[in-house]
Amino acid sequence: MIKALLLSTLIIVLGLLAMGCSEKNTFINWTYPDGKYKALIMSYDDGLDDDIALAQLFDRYGIIGTFHLNSGLLDTRAIWNEGKPNEILQTYLSKDTLVHVFKNHEIAVHGTYHKALVGLSDKEILEEINIDIENLTILSDRKISSMAYAFGSTNDHVAEVIGTTPLTNARTVKSSYNFDLPEDYYLWNPTCHDSEALEYLEAYISLDSPSLSLFYVWGHSWEFRDTLRNQNISKFCSEIGLRDDIWYISAGDFADYHASLKALEIGPKQIVNPEGNGVVYYREKGQLKSLDPGQRLTH
Ligand SMILES: [Zn+2]
Repeated sequence: MIKALLLSTLIIVLGLLAMGCSEKNTFINWTYPDGKYKALIMSYDDGLDDDIALAQLFDRYGIIGTFHLNSGLLDTRAIWNEGKPNEILQTYLSKDTLVHVFKNHEIAVHGTYHKALVGLSDKEILEEINIDIENLTILSDRKISSMAYAFGSTNDHVAEVIGTTPLTNARTVKSSYNFDLPEDYYLWNPTCHDSEALEYLEAYISLDSPSLSLFYVWGHSWEFRDTLRNQNISKFCSEIGLRDDIWYISAGDFADYHASLKALEIGPKQIVNPEGNGVVYYREKGQLKSLDPGQRLTH
């Protein structure tokens, strides 16, 4: 009996300690830019020419997409599942129109040749990914920060290897079914695939909480050749787009902003935004404020 009492007291004390710690790190008073608490990432794989119509749909509703490309397959055609009932002719995007097609969107990595990374040596993983980064950097003249694992193929070790590249984040295909911010940016589980996104739409639109959340959707634009799927993504974008309370953002810029929040030096009496960090935003007594790099906040 005494043992049980001691044990339950210990559990309560540990619980309170854990709550105190997590409260310090949940950035509950911090906001996204413009004072928003909600964010949307739309992440699309494979770089086929169906991306053009999807990027245009996103543009219509102020949504920013992250498009994961296989640079070694650009400018080619392929037959997938040849001879099977689900045979499909695929046309990859052309290199010379990438920047135009993705003018308002992020260009990101999906491996040079769409290889499954689990089972490859570290050297082979790095070659598949680093060459894709190099190619896309040259083609776009942009900084390449984000990745999605081809076939969703990853594990702790692969993620560790990806963490040694210049990339800041890599998406899995494992649904979290929640609106939480990720714990591991190299094993970043999206909320859900777009075929399930309508089921979460209403919950996210009506969410009204002063803590940071994220709705992260992934998929393939070539699946929208199906009429019903096409109607569904159009409905999703028209309802979630152009809202004042949602930050439409690429995976790379989202990861950078969250990294800036995590880099704040939070002490008992002051919060310092270190030099070289990004600008961060917060609300104080309802007022939206920002903390620039090098600035401190005392309380
Ligand atoms: Zn893929």
